[in-house]
Amino acid sequence: MAKKGEFSLIDFISTHFKVPQGMVGIGDDCAIIPDFGEDTLVSTDMLLEGIHFLRDKATPEDIGWKAAAVNLSDIAAMGGIPVATFLSIALPKDAQGEWAERFIEGYAAISKLYKVPLLGGDTTSSLRDIAINVGVKGRCDHGKALGRSGARVGDSIFVTGPLGDSGAGLKALLGNLTRNGDIDYLIEKHLRPTPRIAEGQQLLATGKVGAMMDLSDGLASDLSHILRASGVGATIELKSLPLSPQLQRVCKANRWRAADIAASAGEDYELLLTAPSEITQLVDFPLYHIGTITEGEGIVWTRAGKPTRFKKRGFTHF
Ligand code: ADP
Ligand code: MG
Repeated sequence: MAKKGEFSLIDFISTHFKVPQGMVGIGDDCAIIPDFGEDTLVSTDMLLEGIHFLRDKATPEDIGWKAAAVNLSDIAAMGGIPVATFLSIALPKDAQGEWAERFIEGYAAISKLYKVPLLGGDTTSSLRDIAINVGVKGRCDHGKALGRSGARVGDSIFVTGPLGDSGAGLKALLGNLTRNGDIDYLIEKHLRPTPRIAEGQQLLATGKVGAMMDLSDGLASDLSHILRASGVGATIELKSLPLSPQLQRVCKANRWRAADIAASAGEDYELLLTAPSEITQLVDFPLYHIGTITEGEGIVWTRAGKPTRFKKRGFTHF
């Protein structure tokens, strides 16, 4: 009988395809294809109306921005340099005019910011919902891409920025919370994520990173991928999770548990990496130390050093 679950299906798919020698296939943020002395990085990510966005909660420009941002983030996750994107869109009648043009304005804005050209795609009609798929191509020096399988026992675990802002922004959007400066900040973080492209490249250049990925499904879920791929465990200190002042104030006002959101909510698109602790001296941006790679498997969550029952899963589609 077929096993359920998004990741079981992905495993099933991977059993049908042998990865050609020298290439890296399913299981990382990007596929890796050796290419004349360099490595080409390829990834693709889809955004579906009703699943990834609601037309009445985000502007078309926001959705265009995010469609490109989440793909650029997968190149950043490997420490790569983005080269080009490809955009396929399926549009129902009511999104074929102004909505589509405004969507492209948002897509073009982030593409210009990171100097990544759009080089092709596909456009079709849709019966009801908007579907968007972006493919991205990047590059890096041969053999240098940062995958998920290099975490070593004793490595420190870092993230490149505050966690939970996007998840709280989504909660605020869906709950129609009364707007104020803090709520607007969190919603902006949700709608317009920043791919950590320069940071990823700097981290690769240190030569010290064991494993790296971007945080799309939430720390609990994404770190589990690194642990499984590397055959190690981790302890994560809940009090070390970096929280923005905006998140802390909004959580206090609404009685939300900030640590829960930071540990389990997705779409922050910060980088999650493992490395010896001295890596903080080698980059010119802050790295937040949140835990340690251990022997064993799975995550032990601690609060002020003591193991806690805290059990959180990240996002999976099914
Ligand atoms: P990310 O969050 O970085 O986009 P995902 O969790 O979506 O990664 O996917 C995990 C891995 O599975 C990636 O290597 C991705 O390329 C692969 N994958 C996901 N869906 C499919 C599919 N339908 N066919 C082939 N590979 C897939
Ligand atoms: Mg990713």
